Amino acid sequence: FERLQGKTALITGASAGIGEATAVLFAKHGANLILTARRENLLQKLSETIQADYPTIQIHTIKLDVGNSESVKKAFENLPEWARNIDILVNNAGLSVETVPLKDIQETAIDTMLNTNIKGVIFLTQQVLPGMIERNSGHIINIGSVVGQMASPGSSVYSATKFALHAITDALRIETNSTKIRVSEVCPGLAETEFAYVKFDNDLQKVKSVYKGMEPLIAMDIAEVIAFTASTHPRCVISNITAVPVNQANSLIVHRD
Ligand code: NDP
Repeated sequence: FERLQGKTALITGASAGIGEATAVLFAKHGANLILTARRENLLQKLSETIQADYPTIQIHTIKLDVGNSESVKKAFENLPEWARNIDILVNNAGLSVETVPLKDIQETAIDTMLNTNIKGVIFLTQQVLPGMIERNSGHIINIGSVVGQMASPGSSVYSATKFALHAITDALRIETNSTKIRVSEVCPGLAETEFAYVKFDNDLQKVKSVYKGMEPLIAMDIAEVIAFTASTHPRCVISNITAVPVNQANSLIVHRD
């Protein structure tokens, strides 16, 4: 991942899971970091740990709800000088709060997922893209999902947000096609992070059932795929990459012992 050296990367949803692991891995390979999430205390702790391990890189943390366009705008007004030219944007913040069939889903749950998983990606991209266009370089990496390839029952709206993300990613790649900007989609399968805890509102029995009889990915597995995607030669774009546990065929088929 030596091409990460000296790059400036903005990672959303860096307080946990895949975003946190990506921050650690990018730092290890010399990238400067802008880390965002809503839980400021976790971001602060992560920033201190990373800075202690990699004292030469720069880190800036921002408490941010990606679905709030005003907060996103403010965050970009207050960036330190070194953080103004963002080379890599990892649109990772995302969640499912949906555990019921479509007929029963609450409007607040729908709004939370649409705001975070779709609007958040658009708001961040709108802030970062103009600078990338000006410099004619940059890489936007959106974190999709296998449920954005094949919908899963009980996840209709979450699946819809990831289908939408796929469309947004493809459209953006076409819109930037005359530039050197790269646009990628990384689609994880089951990874053991806080994701299932958020989805099932910390119901441990339900969380355990997600990974029952199979070995899920860990956050660092996906971080490695993101780092690989970010590290190819600038002439090469990983437009779409899917990474699943060895016993997961797609969003619906998982072999369990
Ligand atoms: P985690 O729950 O572990 O992490 C999610 C991160 O997103 C947290 O840092 C959280 O921080 C942040 N986040 C959530 N909502 C917002 C918001 N409104 N504004 C800003 N940050 C927010 O989950 P994962 O690491 O697993 O998820 C990362 C991405 O991977 C998501 O897009 C998810 O959809 C995708 N994915 C995950 C899979 C899995 O099995 N784990 C499978 C397929 C895709 P905070 O709460 O502090 O704001």
